[in-house]
Amino acid sequence: MKLDGIHHISAITGDARGNVDFYTRVLGLRLIAKTVNQDDPGVYHLFYGDELARPGAELTFFEYPGAAAGRAGAGMVHRIVSRVGSVAALDFWAARLTAEGLPVQRAGAGLRFADPEGLGHELVVGAVPDVPLTAEHPDVPVDMALQGFEGVRAFSARPAGSAAMLERLMGAARPGDEDLWELRGASRGGWIAFDPAPSDPGRPSAGTVHHVAWGTTDAQMPDWVRRVSDAGVPNSGIVDRHYFHSLYFREPGGVLYELATDRPGFTVDGPVEELGRRLILPPFLEPRRAEIEEHLTPLPDPRAGRPGPGRPRAAGQG
Ligand code: ZN
Repeated sequence: MKLDGIHHISAITGDARGNVDFYTRVLGLRLIAKTVNQDDPGVYHLFYGDELARPGAELTFFEYPGAAAGRAGAGMVHRIVSRVGSVAALDFWAARLTAEGLPVQRAGAGLRFADPEGLGHELVVGAVPDVPLTAEHPDVPVDMALQGFEGVRAFSARPAGSAAMLERLMGAARPGDEDLWELRGASRGGWIAFDPAPSDPGRPSAGTVHHVAWGTTDAQMPDWVRRVSDAGVPNSGIVDRHYFHSLYFREPGGVLYELATDRPGFTVDGPVEELGRRLILPPFLEPRRAEIEEHLTPLPDPRAGRPGPGRPRAAGQG
């Protein structure tokens, strides 16, 4: 059994409006779902991704309004690495981010920057056959666009334990000398790399990653639950996350992992053209929609004013 690289990454924002602005207007991702934290429906859970909301490019944020800036420490992901198509794309992003007033740094073959809340990012030129997962944006030509996740870099509190779980339990391969493990399945691949942890403890808050999810299928999920449980790893059991089915467990170095299925996907809410426009509520919260919408941070539609979807609808159709 192999995992299909990174399915999604979930992080924390203290500023939902600034978050939507940066990830849609600046980075050119699509807002693919706008829902609420099921445990606290007064705050958002925002999802960004490619045009078709496919696993491999989904970046989600839990909103903690006004949360102070956090800091990555041992047991936390500290940088999200995304693919672009060419060196010219790195130059494009260096210029675009600089024009936004964000510092950028060339490091080896990559371009590093942080989002406005300090969440670390790096862009690298992809060298894999995976389908590019791009979103449409009027100011970002498609051959410059972000193409989905290449990997994540984390600080492990127990590197040997992190390596053992990846290799023995999760089917990961270590392609070189670096502390980097690739998880590659039938449809995609991605990696996690470990850097020496700073001495200061981490502080989970705005601008930090909450968990990283690896892709699987509904057919294989029961086998993964069995495998994780048989290894004695405490886990959540299968959780219905509306857009996918999930299994959570913490790896020995402290990073929270999730395994997430490719189905049903975001079109469970409606046609792909409409994704991200309307607040999605789980059925048990739908009766409270008016009250919930009144208390949420007002957010603009990032695609307001763009041509489409505006599809004509037959009378009487909802
Ligand atoms: Zn998740």
